[in-house]
Amino acid sequence: MTLYAGPVFEMARQQFHIIADHLDIPLDERERLLLPKRAICVSCPIHMDDGRTAVFQGFRVQHHLTLGPAKGGTRFAPGVDLGEVAALAVWMSWKCALAELPYGGGKGGVAVDPSALSLRELENLSRRYMQEMIPFVGPRIDVMAPDMGTNEQVMAWFMDTYSMYQGVTVPEIVTGKPVGSGGTLGRREATGHGVAFLAVRALDRLQIDPTNASAIIQGFGNVGSHAALGLAARGVRVTGISDHMIALYDPRGLDAGAAAAHVARHGSLKGFADAAEVGPREFLALPCDVLAPCAIERVIDAEIAALLQCRVLAEGANGPTTPDADEVLAQRNREIFVVPDILCNAGGVIVSYFEWVQDLQQYFWSREEVMDRLERALERSWNKVVERAERDGISGRMAAMAIGVERVRAAKLSRGLFP
Ligand code: NAD
Repeated sequence: MTLYAGPVFEMARQQFHIIADHLDIPLDERERLLLPKRAICVSCPIHMDDGRTAVFQGFRVQHHLTLGPAKGGTRFAPGVDLGEVAALAVWMSWKCALAELPYGGGKGGVAVDPSALSLRELENLSRRYMQEMIPFVGPRIDVMAPDMGTNEQVMAWFMDTYSMYQGVTVPEIVTGKPVGSGGTLGRREATGHGVAFLAVRALDRLQIDPTNASAIIQGFGNVGSHAALGLAARGVRVTGISDHMIALYDPRGLDAGAAAAHVARHGSLKGFADAAEVGPREFLALPCDVLAPCAIERVIDAEIAALLQCRVLAEGANGPTTPDADEVLAQRNREIFVVPDILCNAGGVIVSYFEWVQDLQQYFWSREEVMDRLERALERSWNKVVERAERDGISGRMAAMAIGVERVRAAKLSRGLFP
């Protein structure tokens, strides 16, 4: 356990034991389910533009391979460490199992601030990281995707590096690639689209008309911007948006499309719109119907949970709510409907699965087909979670995780232990 020690893995461990207690999983089975199968730590030396050599620490964790290859994003962020990557890989396992995808959970990352690198340095780092991972990944072993701080371009460099070593083009080694290099239509917006789709599903359940509802979104990168656009397209008024530099609030509504264009030009929301700037914690506690944290983990702690004024908490980010905050939300007697991360942001990995399938078959689908299959997949998972929560009298998070953990456990038990 000490290998992964740290607050994020501790959170994944705590959540798992809550579920394991609920499911009566014997103690001697728990480590096999929780501890990652494999963790890889690498040093990535690269040439910097000024002639120096800089070395960056990289990680990849494959939580389990019982149901198929490991699947998960690669994060480039300053605070990345082995424990965080391991926790994210564990959550990916429950997420893929809930969505009935043939994958185990994987995750990777490099401890770096990508905004401090030039484009050439970013390419050097992306290629070197993938090159270090080549002995451990493959289309049937571990398939990477984008996460915080990485994007389609980084995936194209990953794919090119892997392909050059194989001597053939292998698009199925990564998902979230540019469409022109074997990516799928709909992947870029898939996660945010899913967040918006499920947030509106939750509003319907609470009998709140989306066209009378407001939303606040923390994080305005891939997930947050597309969640905002998706909510706006469904008639929801987006009243708050934020990123790592600034949090903006305007009860009359903000233009999500113009904000996305501003970020594309300037790299941040700073300087956008004539809206009030608010503090980052105060921002989360502003009144709204939907609060969608779409940035980093552990932003909603017990203190913030007590102050939340939203009706729906739609978790676009992975692990935004701590177990202490979950307890506070439970005490608030279901005032707030939580769409848990492994359900809410599953649109990304579902469309990544579609991309992998299309690459393996070399047969590509229309955007309509991708989005239609995505919404049907999300609807199936939503129904399973809502029914399970009602049946067992448990929270949506517990229901979602219980379904995920049960599926992985059943596969492990039926396959037995080798040798
Ligand atoms: P991104 O790098 O595209 O965007 C991250 C955004 O969060 C940026 O706007 C950044 O400025 C902001 N941010 C960072 N730290 C912040 C802070 N302390 N406060 C407020 N904002 C902050 O990343 P992304 O791909 O949109 O991922 C965001 C979250 O969604 C992560 O938790 C990621 O694991 C999760 N997620 C992503 C995908 C995907 O398909 N990209 C899928 C599932 C889950």
